[in-house]
Amino acid sequence: MRKKWNNEPSTFLVSKNGRHQFGGKATHKGAIPRGCKVPMHLILSLNTKDPLCPVDEIEAKELPLYYPLRYGMGGGEVQYQVCKDSSIRITYIDAQEPDDPADHPYPNQDCLPEMRGVLRAMSYEEIRAAAYADLYSDRKCSPRDKKLLAHAGWTDGIRVGGELLTCRGEVGWECKNSKCKIFERPSVLKALAVVADSPIKGIEIFGCSDVVIFFGLCRACGQVVAVNRCS
Ligand SMILES: [Zn+2]
Repeated sequence: MRKKWNNEPSTFLVSKNGRHQFGGKATHKGAIPRGCKVPMHLILSLNTKDPLCPVDEIEAKELPLYYPLRYGMGGGEVQYQVCKDSSIRITYIDAQEPDDPADHPYPNQDCLPEMRGVLRAMSYEEIRAAAYADLYSDRKCSPRDKKLLAHAGWTDGIRVGGELLTCRGEVGWECKNSKCKIFERPSVLKALAVVADSPIKGIEIFGCSDVVIFFGLCRACGQVVAVNRCS
């Protein structure tokens, strides 16, 4: 996967007839880890025809972003390829078995509520404020910039494209696709999306506002990587 690359940052806004999807059932073949019965959670599905989608010219029309919420006690990592027919093929998941239902933190949440949405490009001023926030933390932004970022859905929402930055800098990770030329070498992901703990009003994923899900692409083989980190 991955041919062209666009890292123009945008944010996801709920909109009834939008071309992108938040949440919904795990419908893609391959979304249930091998030997298990519990599917991963579909967090976002991006329509790759949208010029704001970070990748285009991939074989699939939709880019599904899955996270294994019920694996690894909510702190799991998954790597997968998106195939032509919109199925996915997991190449790596760090927790092989789902969590004990008594332990995992989302007892009544088989999937996130399904909503349609659009991507909204960030303005020059918003990007400038976001760059400052990335450098020095959004708590240090001016009141005006804080307002701008909140309005854009950048502070507590879903960011698409842009950069993947945690409180400790770039998201470090290793590709576990044995056919990849950077197999098991430390690398940095290309940004797909950053999903805050409360990405949409009324929805909480982890119940901890410092934890966000990062979706990125391996620069070498183009597989999707989903991890969570402290923002
Ligand atoms: Zn790779």
